[in-house]
Amino acid sequence: MGIAAKRKNGSMATADVVVCGAGIAGVATAYFLTVELGVERVVLCDPRPPLTLTSDKSTECYRNWWPNEPMVALMNRSIDLLDGMVEESGNAFHLNRRGYLYVTADRDRARSLETVATAISELGAGALRIHAGRSSDPAYRPDDRRGADLITDRRLVRTYFPFLTDQTVAALHVRRAGWFSAQQLGEYLLGRAKDAGLTLLPRRLTAVETDGGRVKSVTLDDDTTIRTGSLVNAAGPLIRDVAALMGEELPVTSELHLKVAYREHRRVIPPDAPMLIWNDPQQIDWSSEAAEYLGEDRQTRFLLDRLPAACHGRPEGAPESPYVLALWEYRRRVMQPVWPVPIDPMYPEVVMRGMSTMIPGLSVYRDRMPYSTVDGGYYTRTAENRPLIGPMATSGAFILGALSGFGVMAAAAAGELVARHVTGEPLPGYAPAFQLSRYEDPAYLDGITETIEDGGQL
Ligand SMILES: Cc1cc2nc3c(=O)[nH]c(=O)nc-3n(C[C@H](O)[C@H](O)[C@H](O)COP(=O)(O)OP(=O)(O)OC[C@H]3O[C@@H](n4cnc5c(N)ncnc54)[C@H](O)[C@@H]3O)c2cc1C
Repeated sequence: MGIAAKRKNGSMATADVVVCGAGIAGVATAYFLTVELGVERVVLCDPRPPLTLTSDKSTECYRNWWPNEPMVALMNRSIDLLDGMVEESGNAFHLNRRGYLYVTADRDRARSLETVATAISELGAGALRIHAGRSSDPAYRPDDRRGADLITDRRLVRTYFPFLTDQTVAALHVRRAGWFSAQQLGEYLLGRAKDAGLTLLPRRLTAVETDGGRVKSVTLDDDTTIRTGSLVNAAGPLIRDVAALMGEELPVTSELHLKVAYREHRRVIPPDAPMLIWNDPQQIDWSSEAAEYLGEDRQTRFLLDRLPAACHGRPEGAPESPYVLALWEYRRRVMQPVWPVPIDPMYPEVVMRGMSTMIPGLSVYRDRMPYSTVDGGYYTRTAENRPLIGPMATSGAFILGALSGFGVMAAAAAGELVARHVTGEPLPGYAPAFQLSRYEDPAYLDGITETIEDGGQL
């Protein structure tokens, strides 16, 4: 019998595992516990409807292209699992394999793109094929699904990506990458978990009772107490608060990340384009009036300076959809999470101008912006941008969090990994790289400074 049937206000029920938080992390954990590992009494609690805090705000992209071996291994595993679920569900969550295209107009950055790509390829992300216009080069295949293609042959760039600026000197097409509907993946996992006996409670976890340093029970905001020996903290941007209930601190911060959806009615970006990333810092070419206006205000003056790399976007929806999603963290904001998230009113215009450096056709919107909406959430992350997956200090408590800007793509492998920790199943080789205990290794912090280009974050 499910726990909900036994529950009354103030009553005591029992669960094998309580998962706190029904974002994509908690939902994936519940799926692996119930469906894959056969745990019978699993409770997933969240006061919000599932997947509605951060997991439905994402750009929903995935890639195996990461700057260190454990992340490549984790993402390769996640994509293997997603590929299996695509088969099983008839692609209920619309996964595609369009890839990511990193574009540069700077020769030095093109060289570093090649150096970094060579290193990432050697970490297990797949072969790197170079297309420099030599007769000995391999053919560029638009539908390749593995490794990556570095294109420095400008004719090839123009043939396959004619919408890119003619200043482009290199484009790196990463192939084990694309996007899917995170909401639909979540619904699929949740449905399967419920069929396997999962109990979903619309409740906030308010207290964790321990006995001799071990989880004994948890209390919910309707005063229900659930006796359990295992708790998974999958509270997304609120993992610190849940850890604090056990007197623990987690080494994470939260960054605000916004996203804009444009109704790109002139269809400058083709509907079959990959994820497009401008790899160069840039200075926006404001009109003299706009520059004067922005320069007068301390809050906006920085927009006249050189802004960071990685303005990016992709087409959204079915081929006939005019929508495009775009993101650019031109200002890093580390803050205590608050909701609703603070929206920068300049965001749609700044991002559109940034995108038009890479795709000059978008300048048609320079004088008249298309209809747009902005939303966003938090990248809750560790300093080295690796997630936290594994036991917490309190015995019986586990963490699945700090999923930063990769929680949707990592959810399958991360949910599987934490479920294996909970049940004591054998762990994969990459498991220690994500455990909190890594911070006890003095060599670890030295090592992480060697990550390639800011932890690979977009
Ligand atoms: C703008 C943006 C773009 C992104 N793009 C991508 C992308 O392209 N690809 C990608 O892989 N990732 C992307 N991400 C990151 C991804 O969205 C997150 O890493 C992921 O959604 C985190 O999932 P989560 O389940 O940990 O957190 P959440 O989705 O925030 O879920 C946490 C849940 O915990 C619940 N909770 C909190 N406290 C309690 C409590 N005490 N009791 C019960 N429940 C509690 C909350 O109500 C919430 O529902 C993006 C994020 C943003 C903001």
